[in-house]
Amino acid sequence: MLCIRTRRLISAFIDRELDPATASCLSAHLSWCRWCRREAQRVDRGAHLAREACIELPVPSTDSIFAAVMALVSEPAGRPSRFLFRSEGRHR
Ligand SMILES: [Zn+2]
Repeated sequence: MLCIRTRRLISAFIDRELDPATASCLSAHLSWCRWCRREAQRVDRGAHLAREACIELPVPSTDSIFAAVMALVSEPAGRPSRFLFRSEGRHR
């Protein structure tokens, strides 16, 4: 396997998305090519950092979403809604 093909497949290799035959060829290439091995280490480190950076945010309950919508639609009459668009003086 050539370096150019190896480098295109490194990300998929790290994510274990390659078929076994291709993964084996790529692994063999990495065993003797220090440049591609260095690139694989760089990609692997980046993927590891990306996984660590992912945080899960709590999903609001449907009850809290419903309460927020009801609070918006039940604003007192005469009070301008937050969703109205205002003319910026272009139609004077
Ligand atoms: Zn190489």
